[in-house]
Amino acid sequence: MSATIPREVQSTAAEGGRASTGPVRDGAIRESVLEINHFSVDYGAGENMVRAVSDVTLRLERSRVLGIAGESGSGKSTLVYAMTRLLRSPGLISGGEVILHVTDEGGAVTPVNLVTATESELRRVRWSHVSIVLQSALSALNPVLRIGREFDEVLKTHRPNLTKAQRRARAEELLRMVGLSGDRLERFPHELSGGQRQRVMIAVALALDPELVVMDEPTTALDVVTQREIIGELSTLRAQFGFAMIFITHDLSLLVELADEIAVMYAGSIVERAGARELYESPRHPYTLGLLNSFPPLHGERRELTGIPGTPPDLADPPTGCSFAPRCAFAMERCVLEKPTLVEVDDTGRSVACWLFDDASGSRVPVELSRVAPRAEAPKGGS
Ligand code: SF4
Repeated sequence: MSATIPREVQSTAAEGGRASTGPVRDGAIRESVLEINHFSVDYGAGENMVRAVSDVTLRLERSRVLGIAGESGSGKSTLVYAMTRLLRSPGLISGGEVILHVTDEGGAVTPVNLVTATESELRRVRWSHVSIVLQSALSALNPVLRIGREFDEVLKTHRPNLTKAQRRARAEELLRMVGLSGDRLERFPHELSGGQRQRVMIAVALALDPELVVMDEPTTALDVVTQREIIGELSTLRAQFGFAMIFITHDLSLLVELADEIAVMYAGSIVERAGARELYESPRHPYTLGLLNSFPPLHGERRELTGIPGTPPDLADPPTGCSFAPRCAFAMERCVLEKPTLVEVDDTGRSVACWLFDDASGSRVPVELSRVAPRAEAPKGGS
């Protein structure tokens, strides 16, 4: 794995005039591997249309980890399935662009808009430049094929010059990278534990040295110990090979272990985006605070788990103002009338969509949402 070493480069278009798309905490300008601009996804059309992802703008730098958090139905999985063009009908991309900056073997970088890419362009970039690990490895792996065939199919298609022996050696190397022995190649998926199957999926995703790996709740179905082991292994692999990662989960305390930045989604929109540690220790949006109070911390003092009252809104009939207003302890009159937009609220690049942070609201920010952010740490494994 060598093609994805991060490089300090010129400013990209994201710094050249577009709205801010993510925190740059240490002042360095890094190359983007992915830019999502004003991206929207609908289910159905006409009167029955439901907007599942609404005007999402995000940027991910090379070798960094972007965590996307939110409850079920927040739109986080729809976002990544749509952006990789894996979303099935009746899902439909209704606006925006997704630019993947593809590095070829000579080091030249070419932007590919995944939204308008042809099927042959998509075949060229999938696995080689962007790969995805799904939530359930049992349904992602073919139950009647031995594990070795999963590797063989990918390598045969994208590396036709490799001999059978070379493909076998590469598959064994990939399994070793995720802590499994080569004899697992002879097994069927049902002969492996849940953690082993998920490790196999991660190894397959890394087979072609992708620049970006998307992980859709890869540890959700696993026990806590296995979750921690896999998170630790992913951190090691990323530091070693330099791929960027999008990691989706509903568990913020898990995400803070791995991510450099976190975007919190609610009802199809991003409501807060910040450096992982800042967001974890000093949340600004009431929904982020509610999510943090829904899971036990992995380290430190125990805290009372209070959860979030109520349920997410019906996206077929969304509220007029802030989508979170019916569940928000700090809602004001303005909140039910006007929808807040994502704006930067401090000099770390943190953005929040909440009227509490708009001076025109004349509101005082509650103490729970105004803790002092910790000093930014050096990026995890980045340049
Ligand atoms: Fe709560 Fe209002 Fe902020 Fe929405 S805009 S999260 S309702 S305070």
